[in-house]
Amino acid sequence: MSNMRTAVFVVLDGLGDRPLKDLGGKTPLEAAKTPTFDRLAAEGQSALMNVIGPGLTPGSDTAHLALFGYDPLADYPGRGPLEAFGAGLATKPGDVAFRSNFATVDSDMIVLDRRAGRTFTQEEQTELQAALDGLEIDDVKIRFIATVEHRGALVLEGEGLYAEISDVDPHETGKKILTVRALKPEAEKTANIVNKLMQVAHERMEGLEINKERAKKGVPVANALLLRGPGRHSDVPPLPERYGIKAAVIAGGALYIGTAKYVGMEHIPVEGQTGTIDTNFDNIAEKTIETIEADYNYVFVHIKATDNASHDGNAREKILAIERSDAMVSKIIEKVGDKIVIAITGDHSTPVSTEEHSCDPVPILFWSNFIRPDSVKKFSEIEAAKGALHTIRGIDVMPLLLGYAGYIEKFGA
Ligand code: ZN
Ligand code: ZN
Repeated sequence: MSNMRTAVFVVLDGLGDRPLKDLGGKTPLEAAKTPTFDRLAAEGQSALMNVIGPGLTPGSDTAHLALFGYDPLADYPGRGPLEAFGAGLATKPGDVAFRSNFATVDSDMIVLDRRAGRTFTQEEQTELQAALDGLEIDDVKIRFIATVEHRGALVLEGEGLYAEISDVDPHETGKKILTVRALKPEAEKTANIVNKLMQVAHERMEGLEINKERAKKGVPVANALLLRGPGRHSDVPPLPERYGIKAAVIAGGALYIGTAKYVGMEHIPVEGQTGTIDTNFDNIAEKTIETIEADYNYVFVHIKATDNASHDGNAREKILAIERSDAMVSKIIEKVGDKIVIAITGDHSTPVSTEEHSCDPVPILFWSNFIRPDSVKKFSEIEAAKGALHTIRGIDVMPLLLGYAGYIEKFGA
């Protein structure tokens, strides 16, 4: 096809909401001043969207998988691989990954502190990482990365690994680290490896110089690992393979970067991009424009501030985050509007009134300078219900966006 566009996908996390008394019965999106979103809704097509399915309250990770065109009910790998990717540790099909904590245990493996005092210097993290990364147990290779405070990600590489194993973490202090069992026969090997790993890691960590120093200072030593959220990197084809596209992610939060990388996107770092309201919206706009003008076919832009404000019950801040996002999109449209197809939405609703994710469907709009308009004039939860696309599912977004952008081939003669 000759007239391909770059598909731009903007997600304001937790965007959807419910009417608020304090806002005169409007939702934060209705109350926000959003001249750009409203223009794009007026010129484009809208819908309401059940991101995973009707009545289902999505987590951000499963929601994003659906929005990237994967069926989360079948293809969700669990938190492990997504966190590992987010931490900078790439997994591949067949690997099993975990989130991990440094912990303090006594000589009987009884947990004394589930976070080993929580605070670690970079030097301490480096030494712990070096002690664990590269370990081999039987024919399985261990990769480990320390992230923030006591947290990290751990990957098992090898043949015949499965994630269906019971917990290591007793979830209470004063209890012994649990012996892992296989929850299905194929996971027997993984359970054995993890049980051996707990012992080996303990022995390795115990003798480290940094722990002698910590003990001297009266700080809990980091002499054990608590693993959780096991997940197996599944065999689903990544986006470049599935659609023949080069895809990029522009996001501040590790989980979003991780989920996007899991499906084959490249992370484009932006200076000053964070997961908060103080994120640098101007830099995000500029980098998005740059990425569109480079040879990417798909650019995913994630804004987290809307969801944070919702979890804090802060309608004012949610409105501010929406307005700043509107200004950000305005810059993108002004510069490269004739080169793109754009979709703008949320990954789920997070009503300010409940401060939790909910199953309320979210509004979505599709715009390009060639898309037929519908009768919707404003971007909101209420108006979107009148849109030409009616009610769609999250999994429909990728084909719609890539179809309009020219990446899906004609079916039939
Ligand atoms: Zn979310
Ligand atoms: Zn949330």
